[in-house]
Amino acid sequence: MTKSVSIFGATGSVGQSTLDLVRQHPEQYKIVALTANGNASQLAALAREFSAEIAVVADDNAYEELKLQLEGTSTEAASGKEALIAAASRGVDWTMAAIVGCAGLPPTLAALRCGKTVALANKEALVSAGALMITEARKAGATLLPVDSEHNAIFQALQGGKIDQVRKITLTASGGPFRTWTREQMAGVTPEQAVAHPNWDMGAKISVDSATMMNKGLELIEAHHLFPVGLENIEILVHPQSVIHSMVEYHDRSTLAQLGSPDMRIPIASALAWPERMMTNCAPLDLAEIGRLDFERPDEDRFPATKIARAAITAGGAKPAMLNAANEVAVAAFLNRAVQFLDITEIVTRLLDSYSPPEPSVLADIFAIDKETRVRTEQLVEEFKV
Ligand code: NAD
Ligand code: MG
Repeated sequence: MTKSVSIFGATGSVGQSTLDLVRQHPEQYKIVALTANGNASQLAALAREFSAEIAVVADDNAYEELKLQLEGTSTEAASGKEALIAAASRGVDWTMAAIVGCAGLPPTLAALRCGKTVALANKEALVSAGALMITEARKAGATLLPVDSEHNAIFQALQGGKIDQVRKITLTASGGPFRTWTREQMAGVTPEQAVAHPNWDMGAKISVDSATMMNKGLELIEAHHLFPVGLENIEILVHPQSVIHSMVEYHDRSTLAQLGSPDMRIPIASALAWPERMMTNCAPLDLAEIGRLDFERPDEDRFPATKIARAAITAGGAKPAMLNAANEVAVAAFLNRAVQFLDITEIVTRLLDSYSPPEPSVLADIFAIDKETRVRTEQLVEEFKV
């Protein structure tokens, strides 16, 4: 039976990896919606290749170009935030949520509300609105499949036991490109150095997050929402080879792990075929060739981001949404060369300490916090400008 599939963030790193898997098994999948931010020509090319029913650009300025490029095809063109939500509400069998940032929250929620299966790469949505997303998913009877490699590994390891039999979850972390660097050495790094991840080929924002280790901070919050074992039972372990993608230790002291080459198509394939398994042409894991696996405790003096994230989720309320929005703005400022690398976590810390909005209870509250935090962080960026 063919699975109907929509991909939000189709032109990005995760979106492309997902389409690559579909390309390998064209008879099994039917593409319904493909979306992008503003790259109309790339999106149109994908929509043509996969005969998508609808292609959506979030940016209205890209609409005319998209329409032009789709002329003579059966693909409908649309643009804007409402069109993204409408596309997500089409109720397909499987949706990939791979937009980067909190911008992915509205379509992801819309897809969850259809009660179908949503593969989640868009961790920022879960960090900002985790409790709400989990509640909505449960209400609608939707299935949330984690795609982030660590969370996908935990999801797979949890097939070997029950969540209430878990003693500890270990999130592995590569440590990023500056794992062995001093603070002094990190002070002057360029965006090019920060996005050059040693193991994974990813979008710019998550690559910078990996370099600051905020990615692991966001993933800690993500894990806390997806796997309710208690925050104190989720630990981080630096593992530079990125071969063990995470581990689950049960009460009996059995530890189950998921291993694989550092290729996002592997966790995506597990979510795409779930509950079955699919063939992929990904590189097999050759442990003899790799030779050794190393492990280190995280150094939160050099990389304070995981400490900041743990404090934000412990405080709860508005803090996780503030953490995410401040980090998005600070990372964008670093990529634009407006602030320096070490300023990113400094700006996030300053923002978190600067104001305390009331606890969000509905989605509109989250968006208000997100918006206000962005304005305040932009002001902080001005102070830090190099
Ligand atoms: P990317 O930058 O390569 O792609 C992002 C996609 O989102 C693009 O299609 C872009 O057009 C779209 N987009 C950007 N801003 C948008 C907006 N405002 N509105 C609508 N669409 C917008 O990012 P990526 O590396 O593919 O990451 C996507 C998500 O998956 C992120 O949340 C990231 O943390 C997560 N993730 C990525 C990887 C990876 O290997 N790349 C691994 C784990 C998790
Ligand atoms: Mg990850």
